Amino acid sequence: MKTRALAVTAASTPFISYEFERRALRPNDIAIDITYAGICHSDIHQVREEWGPAIFPMVPGHEIVGRVSALGSAVTSFTVAESVGVGVFVDSCRTCDSCKKGLGNYCEEGMTGTYNGYERDGKTVAMGGYSNRFVIDADYAIHVPAHLDQSGVAPLLCAGITLFSPLKNWGAGPGVKVGIMGLGGLGHMGVKFAHALGADVTVFSHSPSKEKDALAMGADHFVSTKDISNLKPLHKSFDLILNTVSARLDINEYLELLKLDGTLVVIGLPGEPYSVQPGVLLNGRRSMAGSMIGGIPETQEMLEFCGKHNIVSDVEVISADYVDAAYERTVASDVKYRFVIDASTI
Ligand code: NAP
Ligand code: ZN
Ligand code: ZN
Repeated sequence: MKTRALAVTAASTPFISYEFERRALRPNDIAIDITYAGICHSDIHQVREEWGPAIFPMVPGHEIVGRVSALGSAVTSFTVAESVGVGVFVDSCRTCDSCKKGLGNYCEEGMTGTYNGYERDGKTVAMGGYSNRFVIDADYAIHVPAHLDQSGVAPLLCAGITLFSPLKNWGAGPGVKVGIMGLGGLGHMGVKFAHALGADVTVFSHSPSKEKDALAMGADHFVSTKDISNLKPLHKSFDLILNTVSARLDINEYLELLKLDGTLVVIGLPGEPYSVQPGVLLNGRRSMAGSMIGGIPETQEMLEFCGKHNIVSDVEVISADYVDAAYERTVASDVKYRFVIDASTI
């Protein structure tokens, strides 16, 4: 299936137009005409090889939304023209304990990523969503509520589920004090979900100009971390903190904010280790945990939650020729709050 895309051919080089063939439909596959693809900071880390050597040419993109254009002979779960999403992984072993629990994102063999990796045959390079068409096994595709605006839906497939999953897992809800570190693509979805779940939400941001937006999204409090001493009065007051910051920081400053038995969940992946003071963890039986996207069933649950609460991402829709500039602006924390590529311009 002939596909038009945007690719980089080496680390940190500009995007170029690129054509390649996607596979013909297998019995359980669906074909998708992509309408929008979000730009996740993980795309940037990988294009720039900040997580180690990458596979080029690379077509990034794992926040994909579109319409079903064709069905494999065995597919009964989707219909042609319905709104459909694809996230960070397109397959997994399906037999390990994690996969059996619907947590293919934690597959013991490793999930099969949407790009910058090999498909399960071990030789086909997976190509992502900065493209006009997609082919995926129907078991790894997500139904999207028809009334949600597709451009705002695209980021839900990574940014959305990545915050929804830990908020549910660590019990965010009424009476729970939740902190969200970083108001970017992930962080702003965390604010919307935590608010909708009934938690008391505080945003920690190094961009004071984002305060008004944070409160409009549902945050109850905004703390500027430009002056780190602003954290001191808040020591020992949070149940759950989700760290979405893409850059290095002193994690101990934030662990100090946790109450007895509180948990700080690491979500941002700067590619460098954090230095943790053991005493800060011991004092208050605090935990530091991690969380990586979410499984297919919980991604479906998240989209249904979004449908019910009318939640989508705040997006800036861009055309294909703006992607390089969008990367620069994302790294500068200058996006409100996710860039989404209009696939018709690719
Ligand atoms: P993003 O849109 O660039 O947001 C990151 C936010 O971090 C920025 O908006 C900014 O918020 C804050 N920040 C950036 N640089 C900073 C600095 N030098 N000091 C303090 N704060 C800074 O990125 P994203 O797409 O949300 O992704 C965030 C991170 O999560 C990335 O590392 C990404 O790879 C990772 N990620 C992880 C998963 C997972 O499954 N765990 C999934 C997707 C992405 P303020 O302006 O409000 O301070
Ligand atoms: Zn992502
Ligand atoms: Zn598995």
